[in-house]
Amino acid sequence: MSIVCAKCRVGKQLNDYKLDEQGVPFDICIQCWNINSALFWSTKHFRICKSCDEKLPIDKRFRKNQYGIPYAICVTCYETKVQEDYRKLRASRILPFEAIGKKVPSPEPKVPSKIILLRR
Ligand SMILES: [Zn+2]
Ligand SMILES: [Zn+2]
Repeated sequence: MSIVCAKCRVGKQLNDYKLDEQGVPFDICIQCWNINSALFWSTKHFRICKSCDEKLPIDKRFRKNQYGIPYAICVTCYETKVQEDYRKLRASRILPFEAIGKKVPSPEPKVPSKIILLRR
């Protein structure tokens, strides 16, 4: 089954379309959507970050994808998110390890045994 794009009039598969929150495909394909969106953003100088809700200059504070469309969150929020994700990943990696007791066995305690020898 293919859907005809309302803009380029080409019949495309469902995965060539973005879906809205209800899972309904847009009437224009991803390619046309990207072109439209890039055109829209090329005339804009500011964007409101979805994360911190600040209105920031696109050129300085947002990364852009290969179509020239700025990301929905600013560089600062993006970096914070990356760090948080990494911390979560790191925490999830360490915890199960300790939970199953797979710690590296510590070498023979040499110092205490010396003390024992001295005490004799
Ligand atoms: Zn199209
Ligand atoms: Zn932000």
